[in-house]
Amino acid sequence: MRGYAPASPDNKYPHRYLTMPTFKAPVRDINFVLNDVLNVGQLAEFERYADATPDIVEGVVDEAAKLIENQIAPLNQAGDTVGAQFKDGHVEMVDGFKEAFQAYAENGWMGLSADPEYGGQGLPFVLSKAVEDMLCAGNVAFALYPGLTQGCYEGLEANASDEIKATYLEKLANGEWAGTMCMTEPQAGSDVGAVKTKAEPQDDGSYLLNGGKIFISSGQHEMTPNIVHFVLARLPDSPPGVKGLTTFVVPRKLVNADGSVGDDNGVSCVSIEEKMGLHGSCTCTMQYDNARGWMVGKPNQGIQSMFVMMNKARIMVGMQGLGQCELATQTAIRYAQDRVQGKPLTGGDDVPIIAHPDVRRMLLTMKAITEGARVMAYETSLYEDISVASPDEAQREAASDWVELGTPLTKAFCTDAAVELGSLAIQVYGGHGYIKEHGVEQILRDSKILCLYEGTNGIQAMDLVRRKIKMKGGALPQRFFDKVEAELETYAGDAPEVADALRTALAALKDGTAWLQQQLKDDPDAAGAGAVPYQRAFALTWLGMNWLRMAAKAKVLPDDAFKQGKLATAKFFAAAILPEVGSLCSSIQRNASLTMDLPAEAFLAA
Ligand SMILES: Cc1cc2nc3c(=O)[nH]c(=O)nc-3n(C[C@H](O)[C@H](O)[C@H](O)COP(=O)(O)OP(=O)(O)OC[C@H]3O[C@@H](n4cnc5c(N)ncnc54)[C@H](O)[C@@H]3O)c2cc1C
Repeated sequence: MRGYAPASPDNKYPHRYLTMPTFKAPVRDINFVLNDVLNVGQLAEFERYADATPDIVEGVVDEAAKLIENQIAPLNQAGDTVGAQFKDGHVEMVDGFKEAFQAYAENGWMGLSADPEYGGQGLPFVLSKAVEDMLCAGNVAFALYPGLTQGCYEGLEANASDEIKATYLEKLANGEWAGTMCMTEPQAGSDVGAVKTKAEPQDDGSYLLNGGKIFISSGQHEMTPNIVHFVLARLPDSPPGVKGLTTFVVPRKLVNADGSVGDDNGVSCVSIEEKMGLHGSCTCTMQYDNARGWMVGKPNQGIQSMFVMMNKARIMVGMQGLGQCELATQTAIRYAQDRVQGKPLTGGDDVPIIAHPDVRRMLLTMKAITEGARVMAYETSLYEDISVASPDEAQREAASDWVELGTPLTKAFCTDAAVELGSLAIQVYGGHGYIKEHGVEQILRDSKILCLYEGTNGIQAMDLVRRKIKMKGGALPQRFFDKVEAELETYAGDAPEVADALRTALAALKDGTAWLQQQLKDDPDAAGAGAVPYQRAFALTWLGMNWLRMAAKAKVLPDDAFKQGKLATAKFFAAAILPEVGSLCSSIQRNASLTMDLPAEAFLAA
């Protein structure tokens, strides 16, 4: 809905200027990133992805865009205002969610990258992420239902016995059943080693689970006849901490020998949370009372099982952030093109606010971050595909290193950016952005959780600094530096301003990396204090490389607004945003030791 809202009994505020966010999938940019910048067509050379030719890729993006724009995005506002409800022990979905889930499943989107042996389409992971990018922009709360189902599928696929796989995987891949990931307990948030839920072995090889979980997304609903829970628990004789965790599959309803849905299992939802945003997604408190489960993987190796699926789950949350960045950006741009207010600084009549330099600064920042982050998120996903599909062992290993490095960066940067851009979108709307009827403040409310779940962004920074930059003697960041240098070699002549800024940023990042690697040995607290700013500096340098490549690839496109947008935004990113890397990397070296000086009790001195 755009323009002045008509006076009607439903419209309490006819004087207000309403532009509800209407999502339009960024199909052209997605295809540009997939095909021109990252050349995902290279995957078709691997036997596993022989079908992923450029025309198939474009067809998939087009078809998914239609379903998301027409059926799923229109439910976004009702998801927020009505939300999932807990009534008489059951979770009620927002009208239309069940039908949308079924349409998404029946059209094969749930199992797009799942193994054909289990009913999936076997297409590349990066393509499924492109679809997820659009889905999370259209309706991020809805996206959690298929997202958790895929997460559960991945956890079982990587770790479960053939029998468990045969029972569950196909039904998860085709969306007949939904899934969850159940880790968190009141005392076990970031520290999953504190999980207490108990699993007692039974004579028939199954386990009885007792205990409770909190904050379980999609924990209960009636959209599917069964829900498959991937649960972290503890065996009776297990050692304390993370070394005593084991994973289990616990279906909401037991599965009969013929695969049909049987009796209730002892797993129930006792309440759902009232949240700041993401209202369409139910966040459940779960209770296990002698719930029957089956071990997934080996005893006391739950943490290893989880690590296998964690990269994918974290990339998924990165895509949620990216989607919200896209929604914030396109919504703010449309509003700024429409909203007339004030005269230009150079004089003349009233103009749409997009004429004002400060509004342009905000919009260009949003565009630069969103489109740059898209390349980072897709590239990490592309490396995931190469790491499993390449016949060359060295290439597989290099790709896997990239996934290790890219995962915390994608998760943390895209989700922090969603909050930053959600806030900027409100700023572009002015006071109207703070009013619910416009729908733009929903983006900020929906986005904040993305920085918190699946490992807070502080935990991502710890992963980056304490594990990834020292793994293999520092080989992972070195691969990144080498790649940036190679891209500079290839493309510097196409975008010299971007290349110059990128060279400066890269030098600062190398310096910051060497300093942190040293602090990990000398002063771990100093490394911990610098971790989050360093994470941003790293991601911004990656975006610098992305804008260099985008500028070079855009240069050869036919002259039009898309090309103009790419070339101008690349220069803006290099001039206005990339220099932040230098100040971030020098500030962590100057400030880090100071962070620990103040005694904890002096923080709130009366
Ligand atoms: C809406 C919603 C949906 C969720 N969905 C799921 C789900 O489907 N399944 C599931 O299992 N869980 C889910 N969660 C739980 C979520 O993953 C946890 O809330 C998250 O892991 C953080 O744990 P916590 O809330 O206990 O925070 P804490 O762990 O108490 O963290 C508090 C603060 O301390 C910091 N911190 C903690 N430890 C460290 C450390 N070692 N180093 C540096 N900083 C540290 C954190 O970064 C954070 O800033 C969900 C939560 C919400 C709110």
